[in-house]
Amino acid sequence: MRDENCIFCKIANGEIPSSTVYEDEEFRAILDLGPASKGHTLILPKEHFRDLTELPEDWCGKALFLAGRIGSAMKKELGAAGFNVVQNNGTEAGQTVFHFHVHVIPRYENGPKIAAWEPGTTVPEEQAEIAEKLKNALS
Ligand code: 5GP
Ligand code: ZN
Repeated sequence: MRDENCIFCKIANGEIPSSTVYEDEEFRAILDLGPASKGHTLILPKEHFRDLTELPEDWCGKALFLAGRIGSAMKKELGAAGFNVVQNNGTEAGQTVFHFHVHVIPRYENGPKIAAWEPGTTVPEEQAEIAEKLKNALS
């Protein structure tokens, strides 16, 4: 299913032109218009899923496999030293376009700093309580 009001549906299906680096029947990968580093790529499914919670299992596998292939190409062709795979879900998590997408961000020696979290602290009781809740939800 596509969403008529979704810009990434239009880009993924070629209705709006983009700098495409990969395309198959299910996905299009494009260069991000506001790149965190040179070559920052977005993997878009051609069907509309709001975020990872809606993405079917086989699409998940293909998206992550494709991210690895794109990362390898970045290392080979762009001289990237490594790459980050980032995927935001929800406004609070930084999602701004509500069509599932995976960021593949090449990292270069002496390249731009890209924000990461500061390690926090916890205690065993808190860890046990959290683990129990999630275990119950996932069983
Ligand atoms: P999010 O914040 O939702 O995880 O990521 C959205 C990303 O889409 C941002 O990195 C932003 O630069 C990129 N973006 C937004 N609109 C467009 C567009 O029209 N074309 C392209 N190529 N990238 C876009
Ligand atoms: Zn969409």
